[in-house]
Amino acid sequence: MDNAATAKMKPEVLRAMEPYLTRQYYNPSANYEPARKCRDAVENARESVARVIGAKPEEIFFTSGGTEADNWAIFSCVGRRRGTLVTSAIEHHAVLHAARRDKMVPVELVGVDCHGVIDLERLKELLLGEVCLVSIMAANNEIGTVEPLKEISRLTGAAKVPFHSDAVQAFGQIPLSVKETGVDMLSGAAHKLGGPKGVGFLYVREEMELLGMIKGGEQERGKRAGTENVAGIVGFGKACEMAMYKMEEKIKHETMLRDYMIHEIEKRISGVHLNGSRKCRLPNNIHFTFDKVRGDALLALLEEQGILASAGSACNSSNTEPSHVLTEIGLDEEAVRNSLRFTIQPDMKIRQIDYVVDAIVQSVHYLRSITP
Ligand SMILES: *Cc1c(COP(=O)(O)O)cnc(C)c1O
Repeated sequence: MDNAATAKMKPEVLRAMEPYLTRQYYNPSANYEPARKCRDAVENARESVARVIGAKPEEIFFTSGGTEADNWAIFSCVGRRRGTLVTSAIEHHAVLHAARRDKMVPVELVGVDCHGVIDLERLKELLLGEVCLVSIMAANNEIGTVEPLKEISRLTGAAKVPFHSDAVQAFGQIPLSVKETGVDMLSGAAHKLGGPKGVGFLYVREEMELLGMIKGGEQERGKRAGTENVAGIVGFGKACEMAMYKMEEKIKHETMLRDYMIHEIEKRISGVHLNGSRKCRLPNNIHFTFDKVRGDALLALLEEQGILASAGSACNSSNTEPSHVLTEIGLDEEAVRNSLRFTIQPDMKIRQIDYVVDAIVQSVHYLRSITP
């Protein structure tokens, strides 16, 4: 129940990767036939990734993951344009910490409403000043809120300010088109949709200039040097093809499971509050605050029953800082502590959700019964 942290790699993905880890081990930049086959495999994968968002293959730059893509988008704009960097208060740390690095530029955080939806009026106000980049995520990794990218790009387009979106949670999960949303740059990662870890991409609209981040050879159009992660990229391509296959059906099934789980928990437990939006929500995300129940205690009880969930972002769970996302949507410190995220995947069955719901209901009742 923690598929937003990472998803199980699909067996077909492993099978597609395997030759490139063994007999097809050639360097794609080499000038003999077997190496050219590796280069073709990388370019085929680039097409598969591009197809998910309706981009051109040459607008896709492979990276080591979502974090690198977010950093790249930000440093590329901060390095060459003047003005404030505008982002949201509920971004992933890959954006927030990159934005604040070395205090290179002034940063303004746009707030969200109690459902986690970006404050468009505030964004509009900020765009009256000089802005070097707007970076707003496609969907939040903790509470699953899907942001209005189209409305945001209408504002950034009118102000002639580049718009980057961290789409690591949305990519391959929900329909996402760079034309329809109007984004100029977009980040994604393979391991959130059943691909391998350590590979991602940055989409950059072809009219935009991109600052090369890693200097060396001519890989990735000279913008990111270093021998390609061929097997990882091939696996990413396969995961993208599989994500596109019957996407609507998978979304329908996931949404059914999600809403069933939300409904059952709200019906069977008193003092629970759904966090995030009911309407604009990723199909895999369920996030609750349970009054008078510590999230870490509930997490431990669930783990004993074989259920793995999360108190928030996996990247945060080692520190004790309360989630900036939950704080931002207005939860107090106690409510933040009493919250858990459950993220499903489309191949789950309703009886698995039943098992999870039963375990949550019993554990919450038990923990409340022993709490004075
Ligand atoms: C997972 C995640 C990232 C980081 O991606 P990695 O590939 O793990 O570096 C960035 N942003 C969001 C929204 C994420 O969910």
